[in-house]
Amino acid sequence: MTLIPFLHQLSQAREAVWIDAFTLAAPELTLRPLRDLSEREKATATLAVLGDAKSDDLDALPNLVWAQNLWAGVNGIVDQCAARNIGLTRMVDPDMARTLSEYVSTAALTLHRDFPTYTKQQAHAEWVQHTVPLPESRTIGVLGLGEIGTVTAKQLAMNGFEVWGWARSQKDIADVTCLSGEDGLTRLLSHADMVVLLLPLTDATENLVDASFLSKMKQGASLINVARGGLIDDAALLSALDGGGVGHAVLDVFREEPLPLAHPFWQHPNVTVTPHVAATTRPETAAPIAAANIRAFLDTDEMPDVVSPKRGY
Ligand code: NAP
Repeated sequence: MTLIPFLHQLSQAREAVWIDAFTLAAPELTLRPLRDLSEREKATATLAVLGDAKSDDLDALPNLVWAQNLWAGVNGIVDQCAARNIGLTRMVDPDMARTLSEYVSTAALTLHRDFPTYTKQQAHAEWVQHTVPLPESRTIGVLGLGEIGTVTAKQLAMNGFEVWGWARSQKDIADVTCLSGEDGLTRLLSHADMVVLLLPLTDATENLVDASFLSKMKQGASLINVARGGLIDDAALLSALDGGGVGHAVLDVFREEPLPLAHPFWQHPNVTVTPHVAATTRPETAAPIAAANIRAFLDTDEMPDVVSPKRGY
């Protein structure tokens, strides 16, 4: 039986769910919260599982060399791990990618079929029919073609949309026009009727969606953010929404979560807010993936697919 420290800020109920899922996935691994570890267990631990871990908690394990994050995004912990020379592996779960692509397809089809307009019309009992274009006449730009972005771009192409994608490195994905570099981004923004954000939050991407970015978007195009709130300059987006430069924004992630009550996004007629639900990590699918990574680390001493502290993802 191998003891795995569990560093998190979850409720006790969620903690119990994760421990049960790990027990089911790998009975030989015992996931134990930091508060229940003895001083000796803390001193000898070399690996840990993280779920919104606090950086102080990392200091409690002085010999930690590798950690498995339970979430796909690592922006809240990557620098803290790098500063302590701890390798960090993020959650890569195909079921999560599928679930997130389902959210983006739903949002894209909702916008494509003018549901926000019909919701406003219904409030005034207005019977006005708008033309229904074919999906192939609409271009959707997906920024970020990683584990989730690639699945999402393919799903949107299967829905019939023209799909363009953009990433740091040049990609080759069937049915998706792949671009990279500054010029590629400018081309995509001037062409896309909807822009989907699936980039990690890093020094290079923070506030990427600022006034300059928004001014390059096609007039009236929509924005769907399922990545991280810090990618968007909120004031610039509100101004673009008010001016009509951006037609509608579907936002699942925010700089501060829960989104503060006084934030203008809540009341804006052209904003759809969802409470960070595009894809939650499911213990039943994620625990077996984390357990397989832990087994590989224990067997080979090699850390599975660690994130690059320099790139931040
Ligand atoms: P990933 O596999 O790390 O992919 C990231 C993609 O972004 C890669 O294609 C990468 O390019 C590209 N990229 C990174 N920095 C860039 C830059 N400066 N310029 C251009 N492209 C850049 O990430 P993922 O697993 O697909 O996750 C994507 C996002 O979804 C993350 O922000 C994650 O936090 C978020 N997420 C949200 C939810 C939710 O419920 N809302 C759930 C899960 C994940 P290269 O391929 O060239 O490296």
